[in-house]
Amino acid sequence: MNGYVNIPNTVFCKRCRNCGARPIIAHAGIEGYVVKCPNDDSHYQTVPGIIDIEDWNIHNTELYENDYDLKAMGGDR
Ligand SMILES: [Zn+2]
Repeated sequence: MNGYVNIPNTVFCKRCRNCGARPIIAHAGIEGYVVKCPNDDSHYQTVPGIIDIEDWNIHNTELYENDYDLKAMGGDR
């Protein structure tokens, strides 16, 4: 299967730092899953394995302090 899974809105995740898209989870065969940009494979994607939204968030953050403020206020709206 070659499907994508949308990440539920209840899960905090950063938007793609290149294009601003909300990431998706893609099945990467026997290796597991990747969290990636839906628009372009050259934008950041996590290493295949467990679904690692934390890793996605870290790599799509430019100002770490602001990120924590946003999280405390309740999401990415
Ligand atoms: Zn992107």
